[in-house]
Amino acid sequence: MMHEPGLSLERERGSPDPLHRVSSMPPLFDAHSHLPRVGALEDPVLRRDHRRVVCGTCEADWMAVVAHAASHDQVIPMLGLHPWFMEGAALGWASRLEALLRSNRAGLGECGLDFARKEADRGTQESALRVQLRLAHALGRPIALHVVHAWGRLLDLLREEGVPPAGALVHAYSGSPETARQLQAMGVFLSFSGDLLKPDRAGAREALRAVAPGHLLLETDGAGELERLFEAVAGLRGIPVAELELLTWENGSRCFRELMA
Ligand SMILES: [Zn+2]
Repeated sequence: MMHEPGLSLERERGSPDPLHRVSSMPPLFDAHSHLPRVGALEDPVLRRDHRRVVCGTCEADWMAVVAHAASHDQVIPMLGLHPWFMEGAALGWASRLEALLRSNRAGLGECGLDFARKEADRGTQESALRVQLRLAHALGRPIALHVVHAWGRLLDLLREEGVPPAGALVHAYSGSPETARQLQAMGVFLSFSGDLLKPDRAGAREALRAVAPGHLLLETDGAGELERLFEAVAGLRGIPVAELELLTWENGSRCFRELMA
């Protein structure tokens, strides 16, 4: 998961574009994405500041995420071991992750529990998540969680380890409205991706409507079109797009406050 830093660097740090910062609208906030594909330009939303959380998922991409954030001032970097990449993790990953986090202003993630993934042993997933929750506590950093078919265990682990006070979100939320209520009562933010627009995701749309305004975030997950998602979600929640943009900007600024410039 490498990228081509030179190209997008030009776009962001080049001569000031009068259209770029003239707007009084709040920046758009993409609460979860990944590095652009090799050689691909990132696709910042034209004429708007576009703050985005970019997550590493395995040791092989941590340095690329750090470098990407260093050359893009709108990028909030996160470093973690994703449940899909447990098996390939080399011994000692946690101490190397801690060392990188101590020398770079980055959060924890993407990490979590994916019990639909049969290859990855549940016990191994849970202990890796505990390690990353403890790092988020110890270093005062936010954490981004990937959770699939593991809601009961997630709630257990969060009760045992505590929700990191610097901020926590579940990305691409796919749980029930009831679980959403339990998570937000613990202070966890819930982020929704374009997945919720698929015809068979009525449950996710119901959960989206149940989330309190102060806990809602939206994300591309590195693939979707952010502006289209804002329009669709504003329709689903029955509020103007501009209100939703402001709301998610404020929520993102709270969830990631330790990493905001
Ligand atoms: Zn992701």
